[in-house]
Amino acid sequence: MTAAMKFIDAHTHTFLRGPEDLERMGNAGTVCAVVCAFLPVQPTCAGTLLDLFAWLDTVERERLEKRGIREILAVGIHPRCIPPAPDTAPVIERVKAMLQSGRAGAVGEIGLEKGTDAERGILLEQLRLAAELSVPAVVHTPRTNKEAMVQETLRIIDESGIADELVILDHLTPAIVRALDAKGRTFRMGLTLQPGKTTPEEVNALLDERGPERLHLDSDLSHMPSQPDAVAEAARRLTELGAQRGDIEKLTFSNAASALRAAL
Ligand SMILES: [Zn+2]
Repeated sequence: MTAAMKFIDAHTHTFLRGPEDLERMGNAGTVCAVVCAFLPVQPTCAGTLLDLFAWLDTVERERLEKRGIREILAVGIHPRCIPPAPDTAPVIERVKAMLQSGRAGAVGEIGLEKGTDAERGILLEQLRLAAELSVPAVVHTPRTNKEAMVQETLRIIDESGIADELVILDHLTPAIVRALDAKGRTFRMGLTLQPGKTTPEEVNALLDERGPERLHLDSDLSHMPSQPDAVAEAARRLTELGAQRGDIEKLTFSNAASALRAAL
């Protein structure tokens, strides 16, 4: 039943995986992947991130295209890879240029990890840039101390003045989705399908409670435990659990397309 479906994986770091995994992703029906800038090391200078952005915009775009997967590139400074202070300015300049030229489609991934002053400052600056350019921002929430970090992230979002609709809050838990709904916030919300994160059963329960509005699924594919076909697998499992095909299509394709403003 899911054989003919096509998928968007709304949060990946495909460049940390080999070609066999991209093959698996394409074969599972993924037609578009959001590739978010991130390195699992703290850069010693701006050049590290500038070269990463160039890699993602050339070699990685081509590698994905070969497998029938369109890349939407998100560039920005992840809280775990903030270069020393004077070196953030040239990176932000490049992020802006890539967004203005259309080489990148979103700011990301950005967010808080530990909530340090440096993290807060760079998050605020990047949210303001996304607001100024009116582009979506992919915002990470950490595994540790998630609820408190989400509260602090909301405070910085409000300080930046960015519209809720431009913010894609990712790696959320069902409990946080419910809390944001209760507050009347209208963010785009990502649920990550990984061991220890959200399960299809939890997604199905959310569908029953609140429907699919503004929700989407992703694999957060990286060097850490994650699955190239997680979104397709979740669609299959949701079908088994009795979810409506139209709702599954929203969660695994059209809500992400509209969040990223992608015509696919
Ligand atoms: Zn990520």
